[in-house]
Amino acid sequence: MHDRGRPAGLTMFEQFLKNTLAELEQNGLRRFLRETQGPQGPMIHFEGREILNLCSNNYLGLANDSRLGQAVLDSIKEEGYGAAASRLICGNMPSHRRLEERMAKLKGTQKCLLFSTGYMANIGIISSLFGKDDLIFSDRLNHASIIDGIRLSGAELKRYKHKDMDHLEQLLRSTSELQKRCIITDSIFSMDGDIAPLDKIVELAKNYSCLVMIDEAHAFGVMGETGKGCAEHFGVEGSIDIQMGTFSKAAGSFGAYCCGSADLIDFLINKSRSFIYTTGLPPSVAAASLKAVEIIERETLLRNKLWDNTNYMRAGLRLAGFDTMKSATPIIPLLVKDPNLAVEFSSKLFKEGIFVSAVRPPTVPVNTSRLRLTVMANHSKTEIDFALNRFQKIGHELGII
Ligand SMILES: *Cc1c(COP(=O)(O)O)cnc(C)c1O
Repeated sequence: MHDRGRPAGLTMFEQFLKNTLAELEQNGLRRFLRETQGPQGPMIHFEGREILNLCSNNYLGLANDSRLGQAVLDSIKEEGYGAAASRLICGNMPSHRRLEERMAKLKGTQKCLLFSTGYMANIGIISSLFGKDDLIFSDRLNHASIIDGIRLSGAELKRYKHKDMDHLEQLLRSTSELQKRCIITDSIFSMDGDIAPLDKIVELAKNYSCLVMIDEAHAFGVMGETGKGCAEHFGVEGSIDIQMGTFSKAAGSFGAYCCGSADLIDFLINKSRSFIYTTGLPPSVAAASLKAVEIIERETLLRNKLWDNTNYMRAGLRLAGFDTMKSATPIIPLLVKDPNLAVEFSSKLFKEGIFVSAVRPPTVPVNTSRLRLTVMANHSKTEIDFALNRFQKIGHELGII
């Protein structure tokens, strides 16, 4: 860098950056970007090697499905690549409408609205619907995007203990029905892989005249008889006011949806800032998501394979003595607690040809650092057996089991 007449030595800002990074490093919490080459699949090319991938959210293997790729090509021929403006200006295109219509039909709601990402959906939905006179009941382990949405809304936040319905009821009882109140929860928790008790949440919401919003990011394509998510799994689809989810995980694509009443969607179109002040998704992205939705609806076999693999992997890990916490989904945490030990576990596995990421604070609470592994429909039994063998070997070496 050349000198533009600045004073010698580090400026305060540069010192701040360096200190922060050094502190993260010291605590074993510094993060680095690494690069995957080639397409996403059960095996990936990573730093010059072919390695078993146990850390993507690509549960059904659709991220590299040729049918999604073809949908992208077809759409580009028809609609071009970029949306060129926000949806409210001239960037609203047929692929957006088709996907919204399909999702509303699938979820049995009057309407659906697309957002560019799940993160943007949560901050845009929550901050437009709720304000400082309102109350939000939020599970302590909800995704960061929900927490950010609540902060942005200015609503009063009541955090309840993870999945603790007695605590939630106590908080509901201590607040006024005259306020606009909403319970918000992940339907599958992204770091623990457990499931929110939507049946009980819906019942409490009825008893205390409270709204319910769910985030089905990890559940869409995975849970329920036809892959619609946890609302289908619990048979409570008609009782959820705001059904949000994403196309970025099991659907293998990108973007997010919000399904609900016609008035809810029209409200969001008018008031949700992360919908209004951003360019529409490239229509081809919506076309790929639509193809994924069709596959999810039709191909029960794919979902059955995912669950076979999940049950096989989790049973093997438990038998070996690992603490998989309350996982009941293809997200399987291996509790290690110490962040440095989690990183060491992950890097030893990497040397053996297995890619599993270590998850540390602030993504998870202090003293709950873990490996977070995810299973895919198209992992083979041989690959899972190989993984189980190496987990066991390294788990012993490190004194984790
Ligand atoms: C991944 C995730 C999101 C964010 O979705 P993106 O489309 O990746 O922005 C939101 N909520 C939950 C629960 C998630 O796991």
